[in-house]
Order: sequence, then structure tokens, then C-alpha cells
Amino acid sequence: MPEAMFAARASDATNREAAVTVDVAVVGAGFAGLYLLHRLRKAGFSVVVLEEGGDVGGTWYWNRYPGARCDIQTIDYGYTFDPELDTAWKWSEKYATQPEILRYFGFVADRYDLRRDIRFCTKVTSATWDDATGRWQLATDSGAAVSCRYYIMATGCLSAPKPPEIDGVKDFKGKVHFTGRWPHEGVNLKGKRVAVIGTGSSGIQSIPLIAEQAAELTVFQRTPNFALPAHNGPQPGDRKAMLENDPAAYREQARLSLAGVPYPQQMEVSWQLSEADRRARFETAWAAGDLVHILTQLWADQAVDADGNRLVADLIREKIQDVVKDPEIAAALTPHDHPFGAKRPCLDTNYYATYNRPNVTLVNLRQEPIKAITASGIATDRRSFDLDVIVFATGFDAMTGAIMAVHPITGRAGKSLSSVWAGGPQSYLGLTVAGFPNLFMITGPGSPSVLSNMAVSIEQHTDWVVDRLIAMRDAGFATIEATETAQAGWARHMADCSMLTLHRLANTWYTGANVPGKALGVMPYTGGVGPYRSICNEVVERGMLGFRLTGENVAEQCNDGEIVRLQPDVRLVLGMLAQMNLPPIETMGAQGARDFLNEFNKGRPAGRPVGEVGDGVLQGAEGPLPFKLYRPATPGPHPIVVYFHGGGWVLGDQQSDDPFCRDMCRRTGMIFVSVGYRHAPEHRFPAAAEDGYAATRWIAEHAAELGGRPGPVLVAGWSAGGNIAAVTCQLARDRGGVEIEGQLLVCPVTDCTYDRPSYTENAAGYFLTRGLMYWFWDIYCSPADRADPRASPLRGKLEGLPPAFVATAEFDPLRDEGIAYGEALAKAGVPVEQLNGHGQFHSSFTMVDVIITGVSGRVKMAEALRGFAGLPRQDSEQRAPEISVAAE
Ligand SMILES: Cc1cc2nc3c(=O)[nH]c(=O)nc-3n(C[C@H](O)[C@H](O)[C@H](O)COP(=O)(O)OP(=O)(O)OC[C@H]3O[C@@H](n4cnc5c(N)ncnc54)[C@H](O)[C@@H]3O)c2cc1C
Repeated sequence: MPEAMFAARASDATNREAAVTVDVAVVGAGFAGLYLLHRLRKAGFSVVVLEEGGDVGGTWYWNRYPGARCDIQTIDYGYTFDPELDTAWKWSEKYATQPEILRYFGFVADRYDLRRDIRFCTKVTSATWDDATGRWQLATDSGAAVSCRYYIMATGCLSAPKPPEIDGVKDFKGKVHFTGRWPHEGVNLKGKRVAVIGTGSSGIQSIPLIAEQAAELTVFQRTPNFALPAHNGPQPGDRKAMLENDPAAYREQARLSLAGVPYPQQMEVSWQLSEADRRARFETAWAAGDLVHILTQLWADQAVDADGNRLVADLIREKIQDVVKDPEIAAALTPHDHPFGAKRPCLDTNYYATYNRPNVTLVNLRQEPIKAITASGIATDRRSFDLDVIVFATGFDAMTGAIMAVHPITGRAGKSLSSVWAGGPQSYLGLTVAGFPNLFMITGPGSPSVLSNMAVSIEQHTDWVVDRLIAMRDAGFATIEATETAQAGWARHMADCSMLTLHRLANTWYTGANVPGKALGVMPYTGGVGPYRSICNEVVERGMLGFRLTGENVAEQCNDGEIVRLQPDVRLVLGMLAQMNLPPIETMGAQGARDFLNEFNKGRPAGRPVGEVGDGVLQGAEGPLPFKLYRPATPGPHPIVVYFHGGGWVLGDQQSDDPFCRDMCRRTGMIFVSVGYRHAPEHRFPAAAEDGYAATRWIAEHAAELGGRPGPVLVAGWSAGGNIAAVTCQLARDRGGVEIEGQLLVCPVTDCTYDRPSYTENAAGYFLTRGLMYWFWDIYCSPADRADPRASPLRGKLEGLPPAFVATAEFDPLRDEGIAYGEALAKAGVPVEQLNGHGQFHSSFTMVDVIITGVSGRVKMAEALRGFAGLPRQDSEQRAPEISVAAE
């Protein structure tokens, strides 16, 4: 598709101007470009803004199609940098129309006198870094060249319309329009035969209005989308009141939130709610007409877990069936190929009801593909449609399209951005690219951008960039460039984040799947707006970590490294724990620590339902011990796993790892019997170890009564429980009496020395500290006994033990002794599988439904246990669908 077909205005010949030399060139005069200009100018930089369009507004300048509106409430979708602006402008509706939003940008431009530094109808065509001068040279289609020290691309995530992929557009004798380049003078569709191709946001907003005007409307749909009623009208009083009561707090909550809109984080999970409760919540959300509400406020697992998500999706599907009268059309409009929210859902006004109109036809392109556009209309492989107008609502080459359209962008050593990004966009923080000094992207790929209220994200990026330029100027630096290490680290963090949500499970413009040939991958940052902001701030606090700064009269500064090495959810949890400022557990005394743990555990999500949970008593080494039994919902008899909880031989009980036992019971299809073994200081070494062996023996002997499969059992344990499981295997081998067919050791204690590197590297800050481990050991076992293999199984004989799965966590003092145990087992000829959870901490695998990224590890553990028990691999997707994640 020739560029000219998209151009609303050709570049203006009268615009040809002389070359300019400025401190900063900003490309784009949309939301971002305007704020950049305001801030940079105030900071004393010389600035020029280059804009292809004929006026300010960006998105809202180009997208003038019928029904175009924002879908974040206007109360949240505006600048917040100037409280007076916030009160000077009054929005008329809950979701403003495009003309009103465009007027807003005009108002802003006038208020801050911005237009005098903007060159309209000027498209930047290429950009070249000149190492000798330390400046960028920009070429434009107006002929004017621009030389700048800093080049900021505020070119928009959704500003490069995607060309149609259908042959014959040029042959069509009627009119062709693109929603993203709608004529300024409007289009009269009255009495016309109109086709709309595409049912994304623009299609869903425009179709009801086009249907009202057109004689006939034919909608060509490839992928049905979830759409929710906007219930537009006056601004909701509750949100207005919240803002007016405390504007600063309201805006701050938005900045720290996950999506850039001030909603709290939902903590209740779907299985804690009854069906009636869930429906009531859903109906409230449906009536609210607010995307962020329905995407974040129903239940905590809706965005991260396929089961929790399916509950919402099913309720929306019901709504579609209720509205659309023809069942066949309703079925075609009902999405089934992606989780709700994984593809951008839309807000609509009468969208589904439009298909009940007699003048509207839906063509399902999945069943009836378009063959060609002809002179008279559109031909599918089944029929032909005669048309007067074709509207392409086919969306955008999102996130990278407008950046890559400036071609080439040539960085250091002649490297072009298109070659660096050939396999997908690489960046540090979504703001900068290694090898491209002094180039910034606003809401670039790798930042929250389109997964957020863009107003909040744009202000955050702009403030961060301008503050950095000011700080550099003050310190005498003239160039800033991301390092390769920092960029690679960010890619890894992005990949980690993408495992948190369900976005990776859909083919969407978030992943580049809508543009043929585009590299696939989740492009926006899925870790949330608030966490992202804190990371950007941390980069600064840690001396511009990951950036190289240079200047003529100042020594180079490069504090290299990766900004986030923890898994994103681990970082969040550790951050929350740090904020609680808890006293060290080892200062609480044994009973105080137990009370603390009980209270702490009350705050965690309830474990998921299993077939049956029961309590019982078994015979330990010196008396009865309580146990908790978790039975799968499937028919038995099941293999039995004897489980030992964590807690440093001092804390916890048979139910303190309840969510983990439930989760593993569901994933393995096995009975888990969690043993309440005796604790120190009341019962010191070897009480716990002896109880472990005795309990395992008792359970094996009573397998049939417990509903289990008679014969060998399996053992498993976390932390000190992993120690007991490992010891139990050694005792069972040496003493006989119980056959164990596999052992799962999760972050186990295996040795009594503290000199391995993980003890030093992770001494503090990761919940299980070195100090706490000293305390546990001191309470449990006197130094003289610690070398006993019943305390330090690594020192025991390892030959002839059952096959093992040893899971360790990268940020755990116990990491290296766990790894050492796995290696020693392997050396002794024991079949071993080892997993070192990257970015994980000691509690990652057992904090079920809190550390979402721990799921992939549990999937592997479950598969290992099934393998030990001789069970076939299972389709874990079916048993516990949230685990559809890639390998650790
Ligand atoms: C129909 C629609 C509705 C939306 N609704 C919402 C919403 O409700 N909430 C929300 O958060 N986000 C929404 N968005 C996303 C929206 O893009 C952002 O909110 C925001 O407007 C982006 O501002 P920006 O300045 O970053 O980019 P844009 O507004 O896209 O501006 C970029 C500008 O750069 C110019 N440009 C690009 N390349 C060049 C070049 N080479 N040379 C010169 N100029 C160039 C473009 O012409 C454009 O004017 C919506 C997007 C669309 C399309």
C-alpha cells in the first residue's frame, strides 16, 4: 500500500526551511511530544518538535472515524503535571469523543504556547548518529535537516496504520478509507453500501455508527474480540469525588498501580468466591462500563491463570449470546481463541446489538476468506459483495511500526536499528537501545505503554528522560548509552514478566502477530506501571545502572549491571516484606516466631480445592503425630507422597504448607500426607529425622487404609522438610522396612556449613537469611551432632538412594548445598534431575498463587514425582491450566 494512501495531508512545500541545530529534537506532537516540549523548554534546552500531521494531537489528530473515543475514563486520561490544567479543563463525558480530546490538545498547546516550536507537516525520514560530533542528524521530507544532541522518538505506539493484506485495493472503483487516517472533512455514508474490514477497537467503535448511516453494512471479521458496554454518559460521581477529595493521592495511586488507573490490587482468588459472588462481581463490573475495572477487579487470578480467566470469559460469552439474536452470528462473534484481556478488549456502544439490524451482515473470514478486492467490491471464496465504500479498520503496526518507519536509524559504527531489531525489539527499559547513544523512545517496546493508561506512562517516561538530561548537563555529561549487559538483562526480565500474565497465549498486536513477517514476542512490559516506575527510579538511585555516560571534561561513568535479576513477582513480594519492616524472625523466640508464621500465613491466598482433605494421627518415633491428607478428585487408589513441611525444624506444622500440598496433589494426581513431625527446641535432633522415617514407614504400612496404592511410597519436603525427606531416604535404605520410589527435595538443607557462596551472596534480603539459618541450626542441633548424616545428609552415604528431583533457588542461602546434594547423588549413581529456579528465592515454589513464576518449577516437580511412581506424563494444561508456561 503506497504511503500516500494514508497521508491525510501531503507534506507542505511551503514548509521547507533551513537546517536547524538544537539540543533536543522530538519527533511527534501527540500526548508525549507536547509534554516533552513543555518540560524541555522549561529546563532550558533548545527544542524542535517535528510532526508529520498538520496539527497537534497525534492519535487524536489522525483517528477521526465515527465513534472514536478513549477507552480509559477521561478523568484518568489527561496530563497531571500541572494541577491548574487539571482544573482549567473540564471533560464533558465519561469517555470523551475524538473531537473533544483533540480540542484538549489544542487547549494545552495554546496554554503553554507550544506551537511555535513545532514544525508540522514534517516527517522525519532517517536519523544518523555522528560519533565525531556526538550529535544526531535527522533528515525530513520537507528538506530541512535537523542536528540535535538528543533525539527523542515520541512517535506513538499506535500511529503507523497497518497496510491491508488484500490484493486489488487499487482496482476498487469506490472509496477506500482507513480508520487511522480518516478524512478531516468527514465521510458521508448515508445510503451507501459499506464494508468494514476488521473488528478491533476502531471497528467495534465505528461499526454501530456506520450501520446507522449506511444502507447496507457488511462486516468482515477475522478474529472476534471481547467487547464490553462503555455505558458512556456524564463522568461517574464516585471517581470525580475521589479525585476532588485528594487530587494528589488519587494521581499517586494511579502512578503506583498496575495499569495506571487508581484501582487497588485485588487479593481474593476465584475459588474463594461462590459462583453467586462471582456473578455478582461480574454484573457490577459489566454495569460499570470500565475496562480497567473488569480487567483487574473481579478476582486476583483472572489475568494470570487460565482457569480464573475462563470464568470471566464465559460470563462475557453469555452476554454476547443474550444480545445477539441469531445463534449462528452470536457464535461467530464469540471469542474462543484467546484469554480475556490477552488481546486488547474493547469498549463498545451497541456493538453486539448492531448485528440484530436487518442492514448488517457479518462475514466470518475464518470460514469464508476474502479472495480479492475487485472493481465493484469484495469477493470471498463463496460470494461477492457490491460496495460503494470500504473502511479498513485493520489496526496498526503497533509499538515498533512508527519507529522503524524512520529508516534507517543508524547508530554507532554504522549499525542500523532495523538490523539490531531484526529478531524483535531490544531495549533497556523500553527507553533506550545499546549502540544508539542519546536516542530515547517514549513508551517504546519494553515499557508498559499499551498495557497501561498511556497518560500515566507517557508522563513517567517524559519526566524520567528530561530529569536525566538535566542531571547529565549539570554533571558535564553529553552522551548516554545503555550497555549490552543492561539490555540483555532487560530482555531476560521482560521474558520473566511475560510469564506472569496470559498475554503470551494470544496472537495479537501486543505480540506482533498482526503484521506478517514481524518477529513474535510480547512487546509491552507486563510487570505493571508501578513496579516499572520503581525500576526506572532504582536505575537512577544505583548510579545510572546499565548506562555509560561520557562528556568532554568529565571522566566516563559506567556502572554496569542488570537492574532486575529477581523474578518480577519475587521482587514485588520482597519489596512488600521490606516495607513491612518486620523484626528478624530469629529475634522473636520460638513461640513468637511460630505465632508470627501463623499470622503471616493467614494473609496468603487459600489453597485450591482438591478431592478431599482430612486429618489423622500416625505413629511417630516416640508417639503419635498429627497428619493432614490431601486426596485428588480422581478415582484411586493413588500413589502416596509423604510430605515434610518447612520451618527450620522449629516452625510450621502439618498444615503450614497447605497451598503447596494442594497444588502438588492436583498436579501429580497423588495423595499427599503432610506430617506434623516434632519440633525443636522442645524436641531437638534427631527427633525430626527419626519422626520422618517412622512416619514414612507408618504411612507405607497403612497405605490401603489411607486410600493409597499399596507398595512403595514417595517422599517430599521443602527446606528443613527437604532435609527430613533426604534423611528419610537414607534411613529407609539402611534400616529397611519401607520402600521409597522417589524423593522431591525443594530448597533442602543438606549440610551444616555456611561457607558456600550462596550463604554470602544471599545472606540478607531474601526472607530466609543467614542469621535465621544460624538460629534454626542452633535450636535444632548441637554443633557436635551436625555432621551426623541425619542432620547433614550430604555427609552420608548416597549410593542406592531412590531417584531424586532437587529444586533450588538462585537467591537462597541454601542454593549451593542443594546443588551440591544433587551433584553428589548423581556421582553416587542416583538418577537425579536438578532445577535451579532463576530469579527465585527460598519460598518461591511454596508461595502458591503469590509467586506465579514458581509454577513452571512445580510443573516439573509434579512430572518428576509421576515419573518416579511410574505414572504416564499428563497433560498438565488440562489438570492445572495456569501452568502453560515455558521451561524454567
Ligand atoms: C483510537 C484510539 C484510541 C485510544 N484510546 C486510548 C485510551 O483511551 N487510553 C490510552 O491510554 N490510550 C489510548 N490510545 C493510545 C494512544 O495512542 C495514546 O494514549 C497516546 O495518545 C499516544 O500519544 P503519543 O504522543 O505517544 O503518540 P501519538 O499520539 O501516536 O503521536 C505520535 C505522533 O508522532 C507522529 N510521527 C510518527 N512518526 C513520525 C515521523 N517519522 N515524523 C514526524 N512525525 C511522526 C505522528 O504523526 C503522531 O502525530 C488510543 C489509541 C487509538 C488509536
